[in-house]
Amino acid sequence: MKKLALLLLSIVLVISSVVVFASCGDETTSSEAETSTNKTETSSGTESSEAASIEEEVSTDEKVIKMATNAYFPPYEFYEGENIVGIDAEIAALIAEKLGMKLEIVDMSFDSILSAVNAGTVDFGMAGMTVNPDRLKEVDFSNSYAKGVQSVIVKNDSAITKVDDLFAEGATYKVGVQLGTTGDSYSTSDFGSDRVTQYPTGNEAVAALLKGDVDCVIIDNEPAKAYVNANEGIKTLETAYADEDYAICVKKGNTELLEKINTAIYELTKDGSIANIVSKYIKE
Ligand code: GLN
Repeated sequence: MKKLALLLLSIVLVISSVVVFASCGDETTSSEAETSTNKTETSSGTESSEAASIEEEVSTDEKVIKMATNAYFPPYEFYEGENIVGIDAEIAALIAEKLGMKLEIVDMSFDSILSAVNAGTVDFGMAGMTVNPDRLKEVDFSNSYAKGVQSVIVKNDSAITKVDDLFAEGATYKVGVQLGTTGDSYSTSDFGSDRVTQYPTGNEAVAALLKGDVDCVIIDNEPAKAYVNANEGIKTLETAYADEDYAICVKKGNTELLEKINTAIYELTKDGSIANIVSKYIKE
């Protein structure tokens, strides 16, 4: 019996030391300070305890600012190895620098971003996110930093040759979209939910098109181009389905952060930084 009690006690001790160690790791991440201002990282990144002791010594006032994104939206955000890179990641790193903060990027599903921003688990959302009236009820948006277009991807031999074909009397074409995007909400209201299938990622929507489960995919034009380049036998229609503005969202009422972000966007637009980043990723 005594042995059993001892065994239980040691298990409890081991578990609590693991918990203590894990929370030390978290502090390390948030006090990473000056060591790497421009580096982006995912929230799952853990640091070694050796790094922890060095960083505690150099600890400064520099705080972490957390950005929520969905890192499957090239060229705005995508993985290069373990790092999230892309237009949004680079612009966000410059904004964080202007704010004297260190950027941490948290990857999550696109449809979780607004609730994460409102719950305060992240400071802002940046994900090629379109400003629209529904979202404006939930969050506040910065000034726009980029234009977006909803494009239609079809198979090369598709009977759909223009966007109007989708609206034609008696048309039954099935549309694939990424869940929670404007492509999803607009096409559901235009064509009805029976004709629209929602997929967790654009990748899966395109896979469904290739398999013949849907007749087209409605998605933002830049990821659309990336999908078309990566897959044989599909193309985008020349006509656009919708024109949009991309912006950064913050928790409703967080005007202090919003104003800082807007000032940073203004300065980064004026000095050409945003245009440079965009032209690095988007070749016309
Ligand atoms: N621009 C679209 C939207 O805001 C898609 C964004 C995305 O999938 N990352 O809904």
